[in-house]
Amino acid sequence: MKLNELNKMTQQFNSTERMPVLFLGHGSPMNAIEENEFVQGWREIGKTLPKPNAVLCVSAHWETKGTFVTAMEKPKTIHDFGGFPEELYKVQYPAPGSPELAKETKSIIKKTEIGLDDKWGIDHGAWSVIKHLYPDADVPVIQLSLDYSQSPQYHFELARELSSLRKKGVLIIGSGNMVHNLRMVDWRRMNESDYGFDWAIEASEKMKKFILSGDHKQLINYQSQGKEFNLAVPTPEHFLPLLYALALKDESEELTLFNDKAVGGSLTMTSVKIS
Ligand code: ZN
Repeated sequence: MKLNELNKMTQQFNSTERMPVLFLGHGSPMNAIEENEFVQGWREIGKTLPKPNAVLCVSAHWETKGTFVTAMEKPKTIHDFGGFPEELYKVQYPAPGSPELAKETKSIIKKTEIGLDDKWGIDHGAWSVIKHLYPDADVPVIQLSLDYSQSPQYHFELARELSSLRKKGVLIIGSGNMVHNLRMVDWRRMNESDYGFDWAIEASEKMKKFILSGDHKQLINYQSQGKEFNLAVPTPEHFLPLLYALALKDESEELTLFNDKAVGGSLTMTSVKIS
């Protein structure tokens, strides 16, 4: 890269105060168009954040072999779900991309070679929540994929390398769900507030205890936490974005939980703000 290109990049992502980090429990894609307490929670948190230069989102819904960042100018809105009302498929979230930030992200990560992607876009794990933070779609959004072949420890270490972006006004968001067992969801009770099965509540309480005490090791080792955790995290992709957020927490920082409720028995919407 030529020096003048590098200067251009650093100008665009000028030094800022350290941006907060979020983990957002995204739940049903319908949250993109419904009005409910979770949407309100995201909106309220949005108001407490300084306006970022860009968002980097690690979504549960983009798994790849190897790690990629979206690097296109205009990412498309991806409707990566089935069986929802027509209205949801009409949602567009036309936030610009940021090829500069994609290149910057690639350059700071040493753990692996990051691929620049021109095919993905913004999936519902990202847009269904970011839409409520920035309804005008005026903040550029890039996504970082989850390498499905890697361990939780690997993801945690990779996430740490994103740290310098926080001082360039980049809001890093992990989007998943801490407790996420879709097979066991009681769809008839989806609209009931704070309805969780016993094992889901138990896993959730344990997770929160580890989060609040900063015991990240226990969360990285979620596979050896017993049967409640096994039911809560049957597959890694909705849990790993939490590790991305926690890996970025500095000892001196505060951590706040919000949207801390269960839905449909086997999902929790519990979200985290680190600042
Ligand atoms: Zn999801």
